[in-house]
Amino acid sequence: MYNCVVCRYHEVATKGNNRNMFERCLADNIRHLIRGVPGCRVRRIRGRIWIELDGGGDFTDEQLSGLRTALERAFGLESFSPAVRLPVDLAVIRSTAAALAPAAFARLGVTGRPPAFRVRARRSNKHFELTSRDLEIDLVTLLSRSPGVPEFKIDLDAADLTLGCEIRDEFALLFFDTGRAPSGLPVGSNPRVLVLLSGGIDSPVAAWMTMKRGSACDFISFHSSPYTPPETTDKVRGIAAYLNTFQRSGRLHLVNLAAFQRAVRDCCGERFRTVLYRRAMFRIAEQVARATGCKALVTGESLGQVASQTVVNLDTINHAVDILVLRPLIGADKLETIAAAEAIGTFRMSNVQVPDSCTVFSPASPATAVPRQLAEAEERRIPDYGRLLEETIQAIETV
Ligand code: ATP
Ligand code: MG
Repeated sequence: MYNCVVCRYHEVATKGNNRNMFERCLADNIRHLIRGVPGCRVRRIRGRIWIELDGGGDFTDEQLSGLRTALERAFGLESFSPAVRLPVDLAVIRSTAAALAPAAFARLGVTGRPPAFRVRARRSNKHFELTSRDLEIDLVTLLSRSPGVPEFKIDLDAADLTLGCEIRDEFALLFFDTGRAPSGLPVGSNPRVLVLLSGGIDSPVAAWMTMKRGSACDFISFHSSPYTPPETTDKVRGIAAYLNTFQRSGRLHLVNLAAFQRAVRDCCGERFRTVLYRRAMFRIAEQVARATGCKALVTGESLGQVASQTVVNLDTINHAVDILVLRPLIGADKLETIAAAEAIGTFRMSNVQVPDSCTVFSPASPATAVPRQLAEAEERRIPDYGRLLEETIQAIETV
């Protein structure tokens, strides 16, 4: 019987003069995300986004399930509910509530105790005959006597099932289910950025958090073929493909750093390798970002996590480039990041163990504080540093 899906947003609605741009961006993204459910119409009306079937009518269960999966990926959206849109008529509201309730209770699957139930009514239409409170009591009383509705107890704070009822000027709404969306800002409301994506746990979370703040992400990943196996890039491709389900597809640039790493191995102090690799990664990423219109780099770095992420080394690495570097995880500890990766859905992919580019020729005891001048001096020991970087960039494979 559900003939619309009502989509709610919060932060987008707090935008002053730019609100229209954010709302339009959110609605466009929703159109893109739900493209697997053909025949839908997405409209913005008074602070909500509405999804309906083009010719009107009720959604099938399959269509609703497709919409649910898509909307759970819509950054900028707070929550959504499949709803029945009906005339502002108490008799129709009552009969529809009674008709919907048995299936909603059955879906709950609470056994061994009466389910906890509540009605939440909101009335923006002040001409309606009942106040919100009276409407809540009216519907609870009705459902307590409705055929097919099991015995329930009323719990206003911890309900297993909530019937939402909104009385607006033009129509009324009834809904039982509210799905959570990731909130934040719609992807595309901030400029595109380039994520340094390793196969690890952190960088996919950093990418997701950046998308959540409105930036579409391209990805750059470094491998060291033949020292790293094809599985290293296969894994990153899989992670990037998954992250792309949250946005319009971003590009993935695959960079072979092996030649550069050999030069570092042969010319520079062993303990400085990691910092020197990372300065090269940043420089290459900066050039790719500039060539492709990305306005910042993003990494999964977290302060103090490993030798390359001390304050001194982060500073030394940062100074290799002249572009904004975003580090959404700078204050996160590993357990928090793992929990986030599990919630986002990247943990299982990241947790597959394959060799990482950073670990090729990596020293047993990397230096934890490499001053900038020292890194620069080490780099001068590599003949043709610039040409090596240039050749590495020329060989980038973009997918
Ligand atoms: P992650 O879990 O994301 O791999 P990490 O804990 O392994 O992070 P590092 O390996 O030091 O930490 O990497 C820090 C950040 O540097 C990563 O989050 C990522 O943004 C970037 N990075 C590291 N290795 C690569 C790589 N091979 N390709 C692209 N980016 C990388
Ligand atoms: Mg890593």
